[in-house]
Amino acid sequence: MFDHKSPWITEDLALFQNSVRRFIAEELVPNDERWAKEQCIDRDAWYKAGEAGMLLLSIPEEYGGGGGNFAHDAIMALEQTRAISTSLGTGVHSGIVAHYILAYASEEQKMRWLPKMASGEFVGAIAMSEPSVGSDLQNIKTKAIRDGDEYVINGSKTFITNGYHADLILVVCKTDPTQGARGTSIVVVETKDLAGFRRGRILEKLGCKGQDTVELFFDDVRVPVANLLGPEEGKGFFQLMQQLPQERMIIALGGLGTMERALADTAEYVRNRKLFGKPSLELQNTRFKLAEVKTTVTIAQAFIDDCMVKVLKRELSGEVAAMAKWWCTHNAGLVVDECLQLHGGYGYMVEYPIARQYANTRVSRIFGGSNEIMKEIIARTL
Ligand SMILES: Cc1cc2nc3c(=O)[nH]c(=O)nc-3n(C[C@H](O)[C@H](O)[C@H](O)COP(=O)(O)OP(=O)(O)OC[C@H]3O[C@@H](n4cnc5c(N)ncnc54)[C@H](O)[C@@H]3O)c2cc1C
Repeated sequence: MFDHKSPWITEDLALFQNSVRRFIAEELVPNDERWAKEQCIDRDAWYKAGEAGMLLLSIPEEYGGGGGNFAHDAIMALEQTRAISTSLGTGVHSGIVAHYILAYASEEQKMRWLPKMASGEFVGAIAMSEPSVGSDLQNIKTKAIRDGDEYVINGSKTFITNGYHADLILVVCKTDPTQGARGTSIVVVETKDLAGFRRGRILEKLGCKGQDTVELFFDDVRVPVANLLGPEEGKGFFQLMQQLPQERMIIALGGLGTMERALADTAEYVRNRKLFGKPSLELQNTRFKLAEVKTTVTIAQAFIDDCMVKVLKRELSGEVAAMAKWWCTHNAGLVVDECLQLHGGYGYMVEYPIARQYANTRVSRIFGGSNEIMKEIIARTL
């Protein structure tokens, strides 16, 4: 179904891609509908993913990871959206949270946390957004104030992916509330039996329904000062800026996978759907619309391939990652909308994949830094 040959997918990676497809088809897709109803994945699915070697793909083996690189994370993101299986939040867990720990935690902390994340014993989340602050992260209100050997955390977070199951949360907070970016730090919170920590309800979403998204509350939560990520306070913003391009590429790859699947399904649908005595594909409007979609998909593949080659050489700038994120997600929205239209009324039925794609893909223009923020990042370089 997906025959595009990417220059960054080597023979080894192609074999890995097959095992990812198998894992998703066998372990995730059969459960997705139930998870969507429950608004939450089974906790056990994380252990299964760990056993199958599907977690922390690009973390060194000495920390329990797969020893791969960003290409492995990219394949996971691509294949999940191609399969319309968004319940297992590996993008956040493996692609983001584990990499903050790898980059900024002490050796002892890496040994303590990463192997548990690789096995599925710990589920990871990152908590930046708050009820009153999303895009304007410098203005977050959650505080971590030092008291002896501990930080005392107070505040609340919202829209946190993997939050319902999370055992380890990177909490973005103010260690100096008088400062903006320079007062921001990331504190690692281990949630088990933690006094003062509370999860709110699972938020009911428009799409990506099987992925748990929750509110979190911190009331005088005490964690050791050693859980500060990085050697000193006030580095949180810098750390976010360094890591976010990777997160944006994962979302961009998801946009590409969404477009590829929408095109494949719709081409199949219009070949079979008879309109006025002939296949819909013989109508000029259908042909022209799908010709446009195929062109968009081809441009997206070329752009993503170019970005991936740069990522793997560590040459991808934050600006180009922002371009990939906004362009791929924006076009995923347009493509899915056109493809849904070609399905007619069936496209509005949730049992049809295109309807689920329509709901799932909308958020990709909002999270990971909204597309408006991506354009701000790009515009700064003009
Ligand atoms: C399903 C889901 C999962 C998420 N997962 C996580 C997670 O795991 N961790 C986490 O921390 N957060 C998460 N988020 C939060 C997400 O990152 C925020 O929703 C996003 O950053 C936007 O913030 P906001 O919702 O507060 O919108 P606001 O910041 O209030 O923005 C509202 C609108 O104004 C626009 N806007 C804002 N600033 C500007 C500007 N300067 N110029 C022009 N337009 C602007 C925005 O683009 C947006 O369209 C998730 C959100 C969703 C919906």
